[in-house]
Amino acid sequence: MNKEHKSLEIEDKDLKDIFQEKFGDRGKRAIEGVREKRVKKYLDFWVVVGDKEHIVINERFCDCEDYLYNVSSTEPESEFCWHSIAVRLAKFLDEFDQIGAWYLDYQELL
Ligand SMILES: [Zn+2]
Repeated sequence: MNKEHKSLEIEDKDLKDIFQEKFGDRGKRAIEGVREKRVKKYLDFWVVVGDKEHIVINERFCDCEDYLYNVSSTEPESEFCWHSIAVRLAKFLDEFDQIGAWYLDYQELL
């Protein structure tokens, strides 16, 4: 048990380096988001809970302001906001909440 835990930590550190190098602060934020269990997989969408809940489509398109104002327009070198990076990372690590409901239905209930 302890041994497993230790190897996971090493992996985690390497991953952090890789993602931070590739995606900068957004990569760092994404790793924290995954660790804080902010990534949720509904039947229809991936949702990342940040300041608000954001829907990530095709691991790329996001409805957050960072994506809208920075990623898709003014910063050609950055293709992703931290939400979509978090979704990729969560899938890779298999670390997300699987929710057996449709996100859009769930929204209507609120
Ligand atoms: Zn986003």
